[in-house]
Formats: sequence, C-alpha cells, structure tokens
Amino acid sequence: MATTILEPRHYQFASRMLKMKSSAVREILKIAERPDIISFAGGLPAPELFPVDVIARAHAEVFAQEGAAALQYSTTEGWRPLREWIAARMNFRGIQTVADRVLITSGSQQGIDLVGKVFLEPGDSVVVENPSYLSALQCFSGYEASLIGIDSDNEGMCIDQVEQAIERARPKLIYVVADFQNPKGTSLSSERRAQLIELSRLFQVPILEDDPYGDLRYRGERPLTLAAMDRHGLVIYISTFSKTLSPGMRIGWVVASDEIIHALIIAKQPADLHTSTIEQRAAVRAVAGFDFDGHIAGLCQVYGDRCDTMLDALERYFPAETRWTHPEGGLFLWIELPETIRGEDLLEDSLREHVAFVPGGPFFVDEGHDNFIRLNFSNRPSEIIEEGVKRIGAVLKRRLA
Ligand code: PMP
Repeated sequence: MATTILEPRHYQFASRMLKMKSSAVREILKIAERPDIISFAGGLPAPELFPVDVIARAHAEVFAQEGAAALQYSTTEGWRPLREWIAARMNFRGIQTVADRVLITSGSQQGIDLVGKVFLEPGDSVVVENPSYLSALQCFSGYEASLIGIDSDNEGMCIDQVEQAIERARPKLIYVVADFQNPKGTSLSSERRAQLIELSRLFQVPILEDDPYGDLRYRGERPLTLAAMDRHGLVIYISTFSKTLSPGMRIGWVVASDEIIHALIIAKQPADLHTSTIEQRAAVRAVAGFDFDGHIAGLCQVYGDRCDTMLDALERYFPAETRWTHPEGGLFLWIELPETIRGEDLLEDSLREHVAFVPGGPFFVDEGHDNFIRLNFSNRPSEIIEEGVKRIGAVLKRRLA
C-alpha cells in the first residue's frame, strides 16, 4: 500500500522571489482567451494579418536549402545575415550601427532582462515612466532594483522630474518607450527626447530605449529615436518582430555600443545559449523575401482604422466624466475613470457582460492609481470593438448612477 510521507521542506527560494509578483495582466489574459469574451486585454496583433504564407515559405526554404545547419546549435550573438539585415534597417532609421553591434534576442523581452542582468545590483535605481510596461517593471524588480516613477503627460515623461531623480538617486538606467508607450499609447515629444539625451550625457546614465511599436504609426510625423540622436554610446536600443511579423517567432534585437553588446552576449550565454536557429534563419528569409514595408503599411491601415473606431465609440458610449489618450500609433489607449471608480471593479462588472481589459493599477510603480484602464484596439475587428466599448460604457454609466 502506497504511503504518503510528509517531510518538512528543506529548500528555500531566493529572497528576490519576494519581489517578483505574478503579472496580474497574464492572469486576466487567461480569462480573456475564452471565445465568448470580447477582449481588449492583451497586446495581441490581429491574427488574420499574420503573413502566414510568407513565414511558411521561409521555413520551407530554410529546411530545403540550409537543412541540418538550421537544426544545429549556433552562436550566441545571432545569425549573421539577420544581424546584417537589422543593421541595414537601423541605419535607414538613422541609427548608426554595424552587424557586430546587433545582438539577436529571444523577443525584445529578453533584451530588457539581459540589460537588467548586466547593469543592476540589489538596491540600484531605475528611472521609469509612471505608468510603464509592466513586464519591464517586473524584470527590474526581479534584479532587486528600486523603481523611480516619473509622471507623464501627453508628451511623455516630465523631464524636470527625471533630472531631479538623477541628482537624488544616481540611477543606473533610464527605461523609456518613446513611441506609443505601453500602457498609455502616448509618445515622448522631440523636444523632450533631446533633453533626455542631454541628461543622459551630462550624468552618464544609459537609456534603455524599448521600441516595439515605432513602425506602427497611423498619423503624424515619425520623430528620431533616442538611439538615432545619441552620439555618446549611451542609448541601448531594443526592438522586435513581434508586432510586425509574428510574436510567436520570438525574435528581437539589441543595438548598443561594442562594450555593452559584449557584456550582453556574455549574459545571454547562460540564459539560453542562443535564440532559435530555425526562427532566425526563417525570419531573415521572410523579411527579405517579400514587401515587408508594404505589409507594415497594411497593418497601419487596419490598426489605424480600429484605433479610430475605438475613439469614436468612446465618444459615443462613455460618460462625460471619463478621459482618454489619442494615440498616433501602437496598440493601446488609456482611460482615466472618475476617481470613485476602480478599474478592477469595472473589470468585474464588464466580465459579466463578456468584455475584458486590463485595470491600470499594476502599471504604476506605486499604489493609489486605481481609476485607470488600458484598452487594446488591434486584436478585434471594428464591429466587435464598437460593441465591446458600448458594453463597458453601459456598465460604467450604471456604476456612476
Ligand atoms: N516592450 C514593450 C513595451 C512591450 O509592450 C512588449 C510586449 N507587449 C515587449 C517589450 C516584449 O515584446 P517581445 O518580447 O514579444 O518582443
């Protein structure tokens, strides 16, 4: 007869685990995956716009022409032709670099993590916009850094606060999503970009520029990236194919100075040895083998329309006491509810109406910002967006009444 022996546990997790909380967003995404739910929760691209044929053909070519090499271990820094393609594209965007200063990562998320690993010691500070991208905040907290949240408006981070924070806390890094920030959808103005670059130079604080959305612009002029403005090797630039080709391929990249790329390569070795050999080879064949920019223009057309549909629906169905951002690109907009209404409560009510989104609280570094929600507009067709916003609006009006 089997007996269960209950023994005292002798293992103990590292103290840093106390600082790593499971992402509230990922928990909500599990509910949002249900087919009966209209979800504005994830940052998911529209699945019907994935260039499935192009990616399938690229994989078939890899197997037919590169065979076993595509199944073999490979170098940590990444597949040379892909690094060269990215370096050329970065130069076209005004970021002066060469293939040796490009590191291929497993999604841009890994780039954020490696930068954290290379720069942060327990107790170090990182300057972040408040609110900011949750998984970056989680990553820096995991390295036991303390986060200095900087208020932001429609032009991005308030630079005077950044300066005060640098003077006070001498941070190790400034983390910024300059184009169509997650969760707000707002961008850093050109003037503030120049000021941030100047502060970084003056105080020698590196900037981690996370740019997953820059290509997804629906209106307005594209400003220079911080990396393109940097003349002192102080900007570490990160981007990804997740929003333009496929997030499932998990291909991202870092562009930085020789010294920083070298440190990141060393940090990546024990993390995963290298990014998927097959996917890197397929990615470069895919992007070089079709009209990638035409494909991105198509995405911008559809996502821009969906963004407009959501903005129109908000005007029509949301109560006058609410305010929201007007993004020029990206995947999200951000809503400020009346102070008496908590995003979490609104979510609970909305789920009963089969609509999901993410409450804003977890995107802040501090407590007490409960009256915000984030809505994604890329993943559902316009009719569904309108219906979903209408349902949330009705729930909101009932709560206010
Ligand atoms: N940075 C930001 C601001 C994001 O919103 C995301 C994903 N939503 C990422 C990085 C990570 O993207 P990936 O790892 O798929 O490249």
